[in-house]
Amino acid sequence: MPLKLDEIDLALLESLVKDGRKSFRQISREIKVSTPTVKLHYERLVNIGLIKGISVDLDFGKLETEASAKLDQIRHKAFKGHKIKVDKGMLVKITCDYCNGPTHNKPTILKVGDQERFFCCSSCKTLYKEKYRGRIESLANK
Ligand SMILES: [Zn+2]
Repeated sequence: MPLKLDEIDLALLESLVKDGRKSFRQISREIKVSTPTVKLHYERLVNIGLIKGISVDLDFGKLETEASAKLDQIRHKAFKGHKIKVDKGMLVKITCDYCNGPTHNKPTILKVGDQERFFCCSSCKTLYKEKYRGRIESLANK
């Protein structure tokens, strides 16, 4: 037998649709029936399956922000864990732009436009210049 919604059911539903987080007491004050009546009607509406659940409206933008903040924290910790402190005078490993080998202490530098290329030796530098002559010349003429 279908259940006929009464005025209390309607008022209750209307109130819940506006804000599903309200307590029975709040609703009771709002629709002017007793709290047990609100509860009874609510439970009946749940039992007959009309109220399938009270949904939570999440602000996913916020979630994402906090998640990425967490990620930043983790990254920060990982960085700290390595006990790395970037400071002036630190040595940065440079690999040869031609043979990819280490450049040792003093790399051979070739200026290409406003950039610099580093080489382990002058022969790598010469070979690089030959290989990329066209590109180097076009950069130099800019
Ligand atoms: Zn080299």
